[in-house]
Amino acid sequence: MSTPLKLLCILAHPDDETFGTGSTLAKYHREGVETYLITATRGERGWPAATHPGFAEVARIRTKELEDAAAILGIRQVTFLNYIDGDLDQANRDEAIAQIVAEVRRVRPQVVITFDPFGNYGHPDHIAISQFTQAALILAAAADYTDPAALPPHQVAKLYYLTDSLPLKKLYQQIFGPLNFLVDDVIREAVGWPDWAITTRIDGDEHWERVWWAVACHSSQLPDLAKMEQAVREHHTLLLGQRTYYRAYSLVNSGREPETDLFVGLR
Ligand SMILES: [Zn+2]
Repeated sequence: MSTPLKLLCILAHPDDETFGTGSTLAKYHREGVETYLITATRGERGWPAATHPGFAEVARIRTKELEDAAAILGIRQVTFLNYIDGDLDQANRDEAIAQIVAEVRRVRPQVVITFDPFGNYGHPDHIAISQFTQAALILAAAADYTDPAALPPHQVAKLYYLTDSLPLKKLYQQIFGPLNFLVDDVIREAVGWPDWAITTRIDGDEHWERVWWAVACHSSQLPDLAKMEQAVREHHTLLLGQRTYYRAYSLVNSGREPETDLFVGLR
């Protein structure tokens, strides 16, 4: 029997998997690919300050929301790294990377997805997990690196960055207003990837309704679900159905032919 195809998403917060990679996960699950998720935090800070019930309670609520969404998307297993939301870039680097290496060596995926180097809109947690992931994939393949579980090396064939296309960024801004994120008193504006730089387009639009059900699981993050539903019904292809990626590296294919499958060269 041939080795099953496996996709691992390495992201930062509960809901990243749904808003970011939801249709991609749903599509590959339906095609029989095993899908896995590492989420670095439990989204502890994702709550209005005035009514914040404490980190432990928010973590409990958002863990459950993620587990519900993961079941809908067909994710086989969710692993938390148990960092605190907002603190990931302050984490002990060696420890974070070692945890990811152990998970990569345990799951043994051919394809990994993480955030782009801008963290999509400058979120320090997104940038941190992207950097940790890239370092971890190098070490996961290194025979002389011992992870905490002492697992055998594993070489991931392809790494993709989740990108926001310019049309998606424009639509987000139309619906939700400016996508600005204040870090150290500096405004970080969302970065849209130009069309020519996108290497890979994954069309999961036939699964958009399932992704919407997963979105609805994250109800603590959606104060105005009705407004969002209206936008999603109108623009489901761009908002939830299709996703764009940048092939950061590949050991199995190359060139500038646009890809429509993350597993090109591996099937
Ligand atoms: Zn996030």
